[in-house]
Amino acid sequence: MRVLILCEHDGQGLRLGSRSALTFANAVAESTGGSVECLLLGHSLATVALDAAAHAPVLVADHPALLNPLADRYAKVIAAAVRQSGCELVVAAATTFAKDILPRAAGLLGGAMASEVIGHEFRGDQLCFRRPLFAGAVVATVALHGKPQIVTIRPSAYAPANARAQLGAITGLVVEEATLPTQAEFEALHSKLSNRPDVTEARIVVSGGRGIKNSEDFERLVGGLADKLHAATGCSRALVDAGITPNAFQVGQTGKVVAPELYIALGISGAVQHLAGMKNSKTIVAINNNPDAPIFEVADYGLVGDVYELVPQWIAKLNAPP
Ligand SMILES: Cc1cc2nc3c(=O)[nH]c(=O)nc-3n(C[C@H](O)[C@H](O)[C@H](O)COP(=O)(O)OP(=O)(O)OC[C@H]3O[C@@H](n4cnc5c(N)ncnc54)[C@H](O)[C@@H]3O)c2cc1C
Repeated sequence: MRVLILCEHDGQGLRLGSRSALTFANAVAESTGGSVECLLLGHSLATVALDAAAHAPVLVADHPALLNPLADRYAKVIAAAVRQSGCELVVAAATTFAKDILPRAAGLLGGAMASEVIGHEFRGDQLCFRRPLFAGAVVATVALHGKPQIVTIRPSAYAPANARAQLGAITGLVVEEATLPTQAEFEALHSKLSNRPDVTEARIVVSGGRGIKNSEDFERLVGGLADKLHAATGCSRALVDAGITPNAFQVGQTGKVVAPELYIALGISGAVQHLAGMKNSKTIVAINNNPDAPIFEVADYGLVGDVYELVPQWIAKLNAPP
């Protein structure tokens, strides 16, 4: 199968999720005697293209009109690249970027799409995808009929691919600005600079729930512990709804899906919608003052107590000289 990966980047290199998509794509290509190519969109992409070429040959759509990821024009360029390359499977990481853009490209291509894939298998010649439904309560195995097949994979389900010894070829695509849609216009990007890693890419995530009373306490307890552990900060929806934390921190069914090495849940009850976003973490630690909180059913280590007492003690221990 010829596989094309829509790669997400930060202007310098590939995002970790795209490297997980590469692992999935490499596995499919290997099983089918196929090949893998990366697709990059944006402007001034020389550095990113080199990074991507360390994994596979790269198609680059580099144009000032693609500087910002506007879904309508990105979808059009992707659809053209897919037709030109003749690929049979289009893959991206299941991130906000791909969720906005890829279904539009699928619509333009008339292909068949499966999102949030967490595993795959072959039944005869048929490639089948496993994807969670009903907040992870069931896992469906689906086959796609129609061409091309288009999937997003959950980065937590596939380890990031490592660079290869040989660089792949970098090929520029022609972008004709006059043919791009103009219904959407880029106005501004509001982003908060943070020294902490992104919650979807971090090895350790420290998350706070309604047990944390306000933003100052969140920063002191959740942020303070996260900084000691070089971790990302996450939260339950309760804190987002209360305006204590930004939406980007939310872990769960309607937030980010994470599977870090270590997930620390502070004052989070463990509602099924929260578990849907973190229950595949390798090790789960929970602190909760209610011994019957459902989070303890998925936790590897649980501490019954007050986060306001225990977290400062934990931070103090980490501050103490060894
Ligand atoms: C369609 C839908 C989608 C949803 N999507 C999401 C989602 O993506 N993510 C998400 O998180 N939720 C989601 N929710 C909401 C979810 O159902 C829960 O309401 C939410 O997860 C609860 O957050 P919480 O655990 O922080 O709060 P609570 O359930 O109120 O739990 C707070 C916990 O903190 C403990 N606690 C209180 N004080 C302390 C203290 N001082 N020390 C220690 N422990 C303490 C309490 O014992 C309790 O267990 C969704 C709901 C719906 C209906």
